Amino acid sequence: MARVLAERHLASGHTAWVAMSEITDGDMAINDLKTREKSIQEASLSLVEHNAGLVVPTSQHWSFLTQVHGSKNIEVKENGSVLGLEGDALFTAQERKVLTIQVADCVPIALTSNCGAIALIHAGWRGLLNGVIENASKALQKEFPGDQLAVVGPHIGACCYEYGRKDLDSFIEMFGTSVAGATNSSADSLDLMAIVRVILEKRGIELAYKDGSCTSCDSNFWSYRSSGTQKRQSLFAWIEKN
Ligand SMILES: [Zn+2]
Repeated sequence: MARVLAERHLASGHTAWVAMSEITDGDMAINDLKTREKSIQEASLSLVEHNAGLVVPTSQHWSFLTQVHGSKNIEVKENGSVLGLEGDALFTAQERKVLTIQVADCVPIALTSNCGAIALIHAGWRGLLNGVIENASKALQKEFPGDQLAVVGPHIGACCYEYGRKDLDSFIEMFGTSVAGATNSSADSLDLMAIVRVILEKRGIELAYKDGSCTSCDSNFWSYRSSGTQKRQSLFAWIEKN
Protein backbone atom coordinates (compact mmCIF):
# COMPACT_ATOMS: atom_id res chain seq x y z
CA MET A 1 0.00 0.00 0.00
CA ALA A 2 1.05 3.55 -0.70
CA ARG A 3 3.22 5.20 1.90
CA VAL A 4 4.85 8.54 2.59
CA LEU A 5 8.59 8.43 1.84
CA ALA A 6 9.24 11.95 3.05
CA GLU A 7 7.48 14.88 4.65
CA ARG A 8 9.71 17.92 4.31
CA HIS A 9 9.12 21.28 5.88
CA LEU A 10 10.51 23.93 3.54
CA ALA A 11 11.91 27.32 4.52
CA SER A 12 9.13 28.92 2.43
CA GLY A 13 6.54 27.72 4.95
CA HIS A 14 5.37 24.86 2.73
CA THR A 15 5.32 21.15 3.43
CA ALA A 16 6.36 18.80 0.63
CA TRP A 17 4.83 15.33 0.65
CA VAL A 18 6.60 12.60 -1.30
CA ALA A 19 4.83 9.22 -1.52
CA MET A 20 5.12 5.90 -3.36
CA SER A 21 2.44 3.49 -4.52
CA GLU A 22 2.83 -0.29 -4.52
CA ILE A 23 1.25 -3.21 -6.41
CA THR A 24 -1.62 -3.42 -3.90
CA ASP A 25 -2.75 0.10 -4.87
CA GLY A 26 -3.09 -0.95 -8.52
CA ASP A 27 -1.53 -0.15 -11.86
CA MET A 28 -0.43 3.48 -12.36
CA ALA A 29 0.56 3.04 -16.03
CA ILE A 30 -0.96 5.68 -18.31
CA ASN A 31 -2.15 3.34 -21.10
CA ASP A 32 -5.37 2.67 -19.16
CA LEU A 33 -6.49 5.87 -17.45
CA LYS A 34 -9.59 4.27 -15.87
CA THR A 35 -7.47 1.72 -14.05
CA ARG A 36 -5.04 4.48 -13.13
CA GLU A 37 -7.87 6.55 -11.69
CA LYS A 38 -8.88 3.64 -9.44
CA SER A 39 -5.27 3.15 -8.39
CA ILE A 40 -5.01 6.85 -7.48
CA GLN A 41 -8.11 6.52 -5.27
CA GLU A 42 -6.65 3.42 -3.62
CA ALA A 43 -3.25 5.02 -3.02
CA SER A 44 -4.88 8.17 -1.63
CA LEU A 45 -7.03 6.15 0.79
CA SER A 46 -4.00 4.26 1.99
CA LEU A 47 -2.09 7.48 2.70
CA VAL A 48 -5.00 9.11 4.51
CA GLU A 49 -5.52 5.99 6.61
CA HIS A 50 -1.92 5.98 7.83
CA ASN A 51 -1.25 9.72 8.16
CA ALA A 52 -3.67 11.47 10.46
CA GLY A 53 -4.87 14.80 9.11
CA LEU A 54 -3.37 14.34 5.64
CA VAL A 55 -5.64 15.46 2.78
CA VAL A 56 -4.53 14.12 -0.61
CA PRO A 57 -5.52 16.31 -3.60
CA THR A 58 -8.18 14.70 -5.81
CA SER A 59 -7.20 12.98 -9.05
CA GLN A 60 -7.98 15.94 -11.35
CA HIS A 61 -4.99 17.68 -9.77
CA TRP A 62 -2.62 14.84 -10.66
CA SER A 63 -0.27 15.46 -13.62
CA PHE A 64 1.53 12.78 -15.62
CA LEU A 65 3.97 12.51 -18.50
CA THR A 66 4.50 10.24 -21.47
CA GLN A 67 7.99 9.22 -20.40
CA VAL A 68 10.54 8.68 -23.15
CA HIS A 69 13.91 8.24 -21.35
CA GLY A 70 14.95 11.72 -22.44
CA SER A 71 15.87 14.77 -20.39
CA LYS A 72 13.03 17.23 -21.04
CA ASN A 73 11.30 18.80 -18.06
CA ILE A 74 7.90 20.44 -17.95
CA GLU A 75 6.48 22.95 -15.49
CA VAL A 76 2.99 22.52 -14.11
CA LYS A 77 1.71 26.10 -14.04
CA GLU A 78 -1.05 27.92 -12.28
CA ASN A 79 -4.46 26.22 -12.44
CA GLY A 80 -3.17 23.67 -14.94
CA SER A 81 -2.28 20.02 -15.06
CA VAL A 82 0.04 18.24 -17.47
CA LEU A 83 -1.71 15.23 -18.98
CA GLY A 84 0.59 13.04 -21.02
CA LEU A 85 3.01 15.52 -22.59
CA GLU A 86 6.34 13.94 -23.53
CA GLY A 87 9.06 14.43 -20.95
CA ASP A 88 10.84 12.80 -18.03
CA ALA A 89 10.65 15.44 -15.32
CA LEU A 90 7.97 17.73 -13.96
CA PHE A 91 8.24 20.68 -11.60
CA THR A 92 5.92 23.16 -9.94
CA ALA A 93 5.59 25.80 -7.26
CA GLN A 94 1.80 25.48 -7.30
CA GLU A 95 0.20 24.21 -4.12
CA ARG A 96 -1.71 20.92 -4.08
CA LYS A 97 -0.76 20.01 -7.65
CA VAL A 98 0.34 16.37 -7.57
CA LEU A 99 3.30 15.44 -9.78
CA THR A 100 3.68 11.76 -10.71
CA ILE A 101 6.30 9.53 -12.30
CA GLN A 102 5.56 5.93 -13.33
CA VAL A 103 8.25 3.29 -12.83
CA ALA A 104 8.99 -0.43 -12.80
CA ASP A 105 12.80 -0.55 -12.13
CA CYS A 106 13.84 2.99 -13.21
CA VAL A 107 14.78 5.40 -10.42
CA PRO A 108 12.05 7.81 -9.32
CA ILE A 109 13.48 10.96 -7.74
CA ALA A 110 11.89 13.95 -6.03
CA LEU A 111 13.71 17.25 -5.51
CA THR A 112 12.33 19.67 -2.97
CA SER A 113 13.41 23.29 -3.08
CA ASN A 114 13.48 25.36 0.08
CA CYS A 115 11.77 28.21 -1.73
CA GLY A 116 8.59 26.15 -2.02
CA ALA A 117 8.78 24.09 -5.20
CA ILE A 118 9.23 20.44 -6.19
CA ALA A 119 10.42 18.40 -9.16
CA LEU A 120 9.90 14.73 -9.96
CA ILE A 121 12.29 12.85 -12.23
CA HIS A 122 12.13 9.54 -14.12
CA ALA A 123 15.69 8.23 -14.36
CA GLY A 124 16.66 5.01 -16.11
CA TRP A 125 20.14 4.42 -17.50
CA ARG A 126 19.35 6.37 -20.66
CA GLY A 127 17.89 9.30 -18.73
CA LEU A 128 20.94 9.35 -16.45
CA LEU A 129 23.23 9.49 -19.48
CA ASN A 130 21.00 12.17 -21.02
CA GLY A 131 21.32 14.42 -17.96
CA VAL A 132 17.73 14.17 -16.81
CA ILE A 133 18.58 14.90 -13.16
CA GLU A 134 20.90 17.83 -13.97
CA ASN A 135 18.36 19.40 -16.35
CA ALA A 136 15.48 19.12 -13.89
CA SER A 137 17.58 20.48 -11.04
CA LYS A 138 18.77 23.43 -13.16
CA ALA A 139 15.24 24.24 -14.38
CA LEU A 140 13.94 24.13 -10.81
CA GLN A 141 16.81 26.34 -9.62
CA LYS A 142 16.30 28.84 -12.44
CA GLU A 143 12.58 29.30 -11.87
CA PHE A 144 12.58 28.86 -8.10
CA PRO A 145 16.06 29.50 -6.60
CA GLY A 146 16.74 27.72 -3.32
CA ASP A 147 18.59 24.80 -1.73
CA GLN A 148 17.44 21.45 -3.07
CA LEU A 149 17.14 18.09 -1.34
CA ALA A 150 16.59 14.70 -3.01
CA VAL A 151 14.28 11.83 -2.12
CA VAL A 152 14.84 8.57 -4.03
CA GLY A 153 12.14 5.91 -4.36
CA PRO A 154 12.30 2.13 -4.94
CA HIS A 155 14.12 0.99 -8.10
CA ILE A 156 16.08 -2.01 -9.31
CA GLY A 157 19.16 -2.63 -7.18
CA ALA A 158 22.64 -3.69 -8.23
CA CYS A 159 21.62 -7.07 -6.76
CA CYS A 160 19.39 -7.69 -9.80
CA TYR A 161 20.57 -5.40 -12.60
CA GLU A 162 23.02 -7.60 -14.47
CA TYR A 163 24.99 -5.67 -17.09
CA GLY A 164 27.48 -6.60 -19.80
CA ARG A 165 31.06 -5.67 -18.92
CA LYS A 166 31.54 -3.57 -22.05
CA ASP A 167 28.44 -1.44 -21.43
CA LEU A 168 29.36 -1.18 -17.77
CA ASP A 169 32.79 0.22 -18.68
CA SER A 170 31.25 3.22 -20.44
CA PHE A 171 29.33 4.07 -17.25
CA ILE A 172 32.50 3.66 -15.15
CA GLU A 173 34.29 6.03 -17.49
CA MET A 174 31.59 8.63 -17.06
CA PHE A 175 30.64 8.28 -13.40
CA GLY A 176 33.51 6.44 -11.69
CA THR A 177 34.06 2.95 -10.32
CA SER A 178 31.31 3.14 -7.68
CA VAL A 179 28.71 2.43 -10.37
CA ALA A 180 30.03 -1.11 -10.93
CA GLY A 181 28.07 -3.54 -8.80
CA ALA A 182 27.58 -7.27 -8.49
CA THR A 183 24.37 -9.28 -8.59
CA ASN A 184 23.41 -11.85 -5.95
CA SER A 185 25.07 -14.45 -8.18
CA SER A 186 28.27 -12.33 -8.51
CA ALA A 187 27.71 -11.24 -12.12
CA ASP A 188 28.62 -7.69 -13.18
CA SER A 189 25.82 -5.22 -12.60
CA LEU A 190 25.01 -1.55 -12.89
CA ASP A 191 24.32 0.33 -9.67
CA LEU A 192 21.84 3.02 -10.71
CA MET A 193 21.79 4.52 -7.22
CA ALA A 194 25.57 4.99 -7.31
CA ILE A 195 25.15 7.03 -10.52
CA VAL A 196 22.41 9.09 -8.87
CA ARG A 197 24.70 9.75 -5.89
CA VAL A 198 27.53 10.95 -8.16
CA ILE A 199 25.20 13.33 -10.00
CA LEU A 200 23.60 14.69 -6.82
CA GLU A 201 26.99 15.29 -5.27
CA LYS A 202 28.20 17.17 -8.36
CA ARG A 203 25.10 19.38 -8.22
CA GLY A 204 25.53 19.94 -4.46
CA ILE A 205 22.18 18.31 -3.70
CA GLU A 206 21.90 16.54 -0.36
CA LEU A 207 20.28 13.10 -0.40
CA ALA A 208 17.59 13.41 2.27
CA TYR A 209 16.08 9.94 1.93
CA LYS A 210 16.65 6.81 -0.12
CA ASP A 211 14.23 3.90 -0.10
CA GLY A 212 16.10 0.62 0.27
CA SER A 213 13.69 -1.61 -1.70
CA CYS A 214 14.80 -3.31 -4.91
CA THR A 215 11.84 -3.53 -7.32
CA SER A 216 13.07 -6.89 -8.60
CA CYS A 217 13.69 -8.53 -5.18
CA ASP A 218 10.70 -7.03 -3.42
CA SER A 219 7.31 -8.53 -4.35
CA ASN A 220 5.52 -5.30 -3.40
CA PHE A 221 6.69 -3.75 -6.68
CA TRP A 222 6.49 -4.37 -10.41
CA SER A 223 9.78 -5.04 -12.18
CA TYR A 224 10.13 -4.75 -15.94
CA ARG A 225 13.50 -6.51 -15.83
CA SER A 226 12.20 -9.55 -13.99
CA SER A 227 8.84 -10.02 -15.75
CA GLY A 228 8.54 -7.68 -18.75
CA THR A 229 5.41 -6.18 -17.18
CA GLN A 230 3.77 -3.05 -18.59
CA LYS A 231 2.36 -2.22 -15.15
CA ARG A 232 3.82 0.59 -13.10
CA GLN A 233 3.99 1.92 -9.55
CA SER A 234 4.21 5.64 -9.04
CA LEU A 235 6.20 8.19 -7.10
CA PHE A 236 3.95 11.17 -6.42
CA ALA A 237 4.45 14.44 -4.59
CA TRP A 238 2.90 17.80 -3.89
CA ILE A 239 3.46 20.88 -1.74
CA GLU A 240 1.02 22.74 0.45
CA LYS A 241 1.18 25.87 2.58
CA ASN A 242 1.41 25.15 6.31
ZN1 LIG B 1 17.36 -7.02 -6.17
